[in-house]
Amino acid sequence: MTDAIASRLEDVRRRIQRVAEACGRRPSDIRLVAVSKTCPADSIRAAAAAGVTDIGENYIQEAREKYGALTDVPVKWHFIGHLQTNKAKYAVRMFDLIHTVDSIHLAAELDRCARRLDKVQAVLIQVNIAGEKTKSGIAPEEALALVREVASLESVRVQGLMTMPPYFNEPETVRPFFAALRRLRDEIRAEGPPNIGMEHLSMGMTGDFEAAIAEGATLVRIGTAIFGERL
Ligand SMILES: *Cc1c(COP(=O)(O)O)cnc(C)c1O
Repeated sequence: MTDAIASRLEDVRRRIQRVAEACGRRPSDIRLVAVSKTCPADSIRAAAAAGVTDIGENYIQEAREKYGALTDVPVKWHFIGHLQTNKAKYAVRMFDLIHTVDSIHLAAELDRCARRLDKVQAVLIQVNIAGEKTKSGIAPEEALALVREVASLESVRVQGLMTMPPYFNEPETVRPFFAALRRLRDEIRAEGPPNIGMEHLSMGMTGDFEAAIAEGATLVRIGTAIFGERL
């Protein structure tokens, strides 16, 4: 298992480097988040041994178990799933970056929990870039207003935007959505409050990360290409 993860990881890194160079970006400006949902803690340990520095998890309960078993493994933890307000306190304890804030209600609860821990919680605003009815995320036209509201919270800091586009894993079909998220980021950067960061664009998964990097992704969330097919 360890060898398979290491060699898949090397392949992913090579692909990131190739596409970054092809579009004139520094490979070091693109951070790989290895998405380990459904994988055992040992897989994360193997990935970390092979050089992974950032881990992405979708479910709080599952993350708590692995986090508890991996306190000796020096990785940063990213939350990329749907976060219920009543789980905010666990999320704030574990995660360096929460990618999926899409309401002021959730942001305010994270702010309360972070203040109690004397922490400033880094977050991304999740945008429903194609306006799909069934998907989480704030509508693009409401994103700037939400960023303004979140910016007024003391213990939460916005660092950018995240999206899950429709038809993911079809790179050429999703590419316009990645471009749209980048334009929205630029707009918010130009018009938004000064005390926020807009440095991150979290977009791109196993099937479409190259297109996402070409459109400016700084965080790519890759599971299958590193850990293999999920059971
Ligand atoms: C599962 C998941 C990923 C990784 O998907 P792969 O196709 O396995 O790379 C990325 N982002 C989110 C939000 C996910 O839920």
